[in-house]
Formats: sequence, C-alpha cells, structure tokens
Amino acid sequence: MSLSDDESVADAICSRAGCRACAQWRIDWRNPRIHSADRTKTWVACDDHRDYLRGFLEARDFPVVVAPLGSAEAAR
Ligand SMILES: [Zn+2]
Repeated sequence: MSLSDDESVADAICSRAGCRACAQWRIDWRNPRIHSADRTKTWVACDDHRDYLRGFLEARDFPVVVAPLGSAEAAR
C-alpha cells in the first residue's frame, strides 16, 4: 500500500483489514528500525478503528501522529 500523498488519502478506505468504512482519520507513523527520520508511512482509519490502529503502533513504540483526514476541506 502506498498512501503517501494527500491526494490518495482524500477519500480513502480504512486501513484496518476487512474494514470497508470511509476513513475519517490519518495516522502518520514511522518504524525507526527500518525508516529514516524523514520517512513516514500513512494509514487511514474510520472512527471505529482509529484507536485500534494507533494502539497497534504505540504498542511497538513507533512514533504516531493522528490527525483528522481532509482537515484542509473542513471549511467547505
Ligand atoms: Zn475501520
């Protein structure tokens, strides 16, 4: 999966396996063991799975940043 730019995550489906819900959140994370400091991965999550996915990453001590998806469009 490569959801690296904002265009591709704008109307993305939740990254949780088996979930078909529209994603409401983006989860930017990095694995310090395999990624350099300027490299981040992006998952997207629906409301139900935001905390699940964040917990999954935090349990591995990965840096995690959760932000509303498409916040730039919130003023529409
Ligand atoms: Zn989901």
